[in-house]
Amino acid sequence: MTNERNGPELSIVIPAYNEEKQLSHTLEIVALHAELASSRYEIVVVDDGSSDNTWDVLQQCSKRIRGVRGLRLSRNFGKETALCAGLEDALGSAVIVMDADLQHPPELIETMVRMWRSDGGIDIVEGVKRVRGNEPVVKRIGAKTFYGALTRLTGHRFEGASDYKLLDRKVVDAWKRLPERTTFFRGMIVWLGFHTAKVEFDVPPRSGGQTRWGFLALARLALNAIIAYSAVPLRLIGVVGLLFMVGAFGLGVQTLVRKWTGGAVTGFTTVILLLLVIGSAVMISLSTIGEYVAAIYNEVKGRPRYLIRERAGQETEGNGFALTGGRHA
Ligand code: UDP
Ligand code: MG
Repeated sequence: MTNERNGPELSIVIPAYNEEKQLSHTLEIVALHAELASSRYEIVVVDDGSSDNTWDVLQQCSKRIRGVRGLRLSRNFGKETALCAGLEDALGSAVIVMDADLQHPPELIETMVRMWRSDGGIDIVEGVKRVRGNEPVVKRIGAKTFYGALTRLTGHRFEGASDYKLLDRKVVDAWKRLPERTTFFRGMIVWLGFHTAKVEFDVPPRSGGQTRWGFLALARLALNAIIAYSAVPLRLIGVVGLLFMVGAFGLGVQTLVRKWTGGAVTGFTTVILLLLVIGSAVMISLSTIGEYVAAIYNEVKGRPRYLIRERAGQETEGNGFALTGGRHA
């Protein structure tokens, strides 16, 4: 892929939160592999409001290791937001996103860049986890259930997806046009589409420190992801309401028959019928409201209706990869 700009060809974005122990080690290794992959590279490290010495370590690294620069967020915003900051700041024609704990093997950088440069027109190279490192069983089962549910609810495939990815500039620009506040990086990239290739990798254990994801944080992420990608939970109310109505009809008939045959206690028939009617009416009207909420939510997200991957024929102005409409500020 040719590129006439003078900026870096390859950007590597790394979010870091309380990673003082291994950050400089990670950056040395990553810089080594980045250098092999492209002579014009930069490494953008986003300090996500760490409470330890990550920023000092990062400042030293930026003086010592070629290509390293840092951003420091004002507080801990969470990995997803730290990634946003890094992606918006990255200048490269290709951007690789990876973790600071060497769980995303840097050896793959060269492979990813090679695949991207090849003529296949690959826009996204996605790292797919082959074996999840020695994670606790609970987390493994949790991840499996979550990705299974997400795949079924949204119709996009999420299994094995990781945050280790190479994105072409046009994908990054397209991603910037998704204006939502609550981001779920993996899901957004899947939604974007584009031509995706996969490379498999094994997840080694963390190189130092410990995972920042407690159970609650993971549950929050899962909930955000499901809400952002699916209105199924809202529709569920409607389905339950309908089932309830069918049941109510059966029960109503039975109650009436009992009354007419004289087997019912006085007054109960009315109570049962009222409960049934009101119950199903409430659920069905809730689901109607739910449908509108879903529609409003979709509109409020204000995502572009479509994204163009390539054009043929006349050369467009700029870098030749001009996307539709005005770019998101
Ligand atoms: N991270 C971050 N902000 C946070 C939590 C994590 O920037 O609030 C970074 C962290 O420094 C690491 C990456 O996100 O580079 C993945 O975190 P971690 O290794 O703890 O997650 P796991 O690999 O256990 O899913
Ligand atoms: Mg990790």
